[in-house]
Amino acid sequence: MVLAQLGGSISRALQQMSNATVIDEKVLNECLNEITRALLQSDVQFKLVRDMQTNIKKIVNLDDLAAGHNKRRIIQQAIFNELCKILDPGKPSFTPKKGKASVIMFVGLQGSGKTTTCTKYAFYHQKKGWKPALVCADTFRAGAFDQLKQNATKAKIPFYGSYMESDPVRIAAEGVERFKKENCDLIIVDTSGRHKQETALFEEMRQVAEATKPDLVIFVMDSSIGQAAFDQAQAFKKSVSVGAVIVTKMDGHAKGGGALSAVAATKSPVIFIGTGEHMDEFEVFDVKPFVSRLLGMGDWSGFMDKIHEVVPMDQQPELLQKLSEGNFTLRIMYEQFQNILKMGPIGQVFSMLPGFSAELMPKGREKESQAKIKRYMTMMDSMTNEELDSSNPKLMNESRMMRIARGSGRAVREVMEMLEEYKRLAKIWSKMKGLKIPKKGEMSALSRNMNA
Ligand code: GDP
Repeated sequence: MVLAQLGGSISRALQQMSNATVIDEKVLNECLNEITRALLQSDVQFKLVRDMQTNIKKIVNLDDLAAGHNKRRIIQQAIFNELCKILDPGKPSFTPKKGKASVIMFVGLQGSGKTTTCTKYAFYHQKKGWKPALVCADTFRAGAFDQLKQNATKAKIPFYGSYMESDPVRIAAEGVERFKKENCDLIIVDTSGRHKQETALFEEMRQVAEATKPDLVIFVMDSSIGQAAFDQAQAFKKSVSVGAVIVTKMDGHAKGGGALSAVAATKSPVIFIGTGEHMDEFEVFDVKPFVSRLLGMGDWSGFMDKIHEVVPMDQQPELLQKLSEGNFTLRIMYEQFQNILKMGPIGQVFSMLPGFSAELMPKGREKESQAKIKRYMTMMDSMTNEELDSSNPKLMNESRMMRIARGSGRAVREVMEMLEEYKRLAKIWSKMKGLKIPKKGEMSALSRNMNA
C-alpha cells in the first residue's frame, strides 16, 4: 500500500467513526482496527502498530470524557500524535554549520540510491550557499566513481576518488583531508554498499568512519524494502552511529511504512526524502506536515510557505483574501485551473493541498490531469455568470446541467463529474475560512491552528 493510500485508509476510518451517532468503545475499536490493518498493509512493523494502538486507547479513555467533548477530534489528535511519535525520535540530528567543515558519511545497501542522494544532498546545500565536496569511497562497485564524477560534474561540485586505489579507507581519509584544506564546509563521503548486509560491509564502514571521524552518518534507505526496513536499519545502526535517515524513491509505488519502522529502529530522524531520479527531486522532511498530509489534513505551513515563494507579491493579497473568505465558487475554481495550466509554479502551491494533489493531479500523470482540467474549463465556459459566482450547490439543477453539456459538447455525466470535483475542492477550501494572512516565520503557529 503506497503512503497516499495509507493516508486515505486512515482518513476513511476516521470519517466512518465521525459518521457514527455515538462514539463508544465498539466504534473506537473498529476505527483503530481499521487503522491497524492499513498500517500493517503498508509494512509498518507489527510491534510499532500494536504499541500505537495501546497508547491511543490509554489516551482516549471514553468513560472519562464527559459529554460535550469532541471525541472525534481527541481521537484524531491522538492518532496524529502517535504517528508523529513513531516518526520523530525526539532528538534532532546533527546540523552542520555553514563555514565550518563538517564530514557527512553516507551508508546503505547497494541500489538504495546512496550515490544519487549524496549528490542531491550536496546540490541542495550548494544552492543555499554552502561549499560542498564529494568523496567516492566506494571501491567495491565498478563504475561507482564514474557515476559520482558524472553527477558531481553536472552540479559543479568538487569531487575526489580514484580508479587505481582499492582501499576505501585511504581514499576517504585523503579526500576529507584535501577538502578540509580547500575550506569546503560540507564534505560528503559516499561509502560502498553490498547486495545484502554482511560482515565485510560493516567492517569497511567502521574503518571509514574511524579514519574520517564523521560529524553525521546518514543511513540511506529505499522506501520499497518493506518489512525488512526495521532489521536493516537496526543492523546499520549497530555498526556505525547512524544519526539521520534519508528515505529514497518515495515517488514510486512502494509501500512507505517501512520508512516509519526504520526511524524507530535507528532512533534517528528522517531528514530528507528522495522523490525522483533528478538532482532536485529531494525534499526536506518535516514530521508534522508529513503526518498532516498523510491524514488528509493538508500541509498548511508548506502551503503558506509556497504561496510566499511562488505567487507574485502583488497577487498574494487577492489570493489570500479569497482563501480567507472561504467561499469557493466555480469561478474561483476556474481561475485556479487557469493558474495551474498557465503559471506552472502556482500549480505547485495547490499541489500541497490534499485534494488538489493526490486526486486531481497525481504525480506522473500530469498530461492526463491537464487534459481533464481543460475539459472542465470548457464546460465552465458554457456557464452563466450566476452559476459561476454562486456557491449554492442547489442552483445546479438538471436542466442547467443539460444546457451546459449541450453548450460544451460534453456528456451530462461529465458535467456531473466536474461538479463533484468542485464540491470536493470547495470542502477543502472551506477549511481555510478565517485564515489570517501570515508573514513569513509565522507559519508554524498557523499550521498548529489549522491542524488542531
Ligand atoms: P546506490 O547503489 O545506493 O549508490 O544507488 P544509486 O544512487 O546508484 O541509485 C540506484 C537507482 O535508484 C538509480 O537508478 C537512481 O537513479 C535511482 N534513484 C535514486 N534515488 C531515487 C528516488 O528518489 N526516486 C527514484 N525514482 N529513483 C531513485
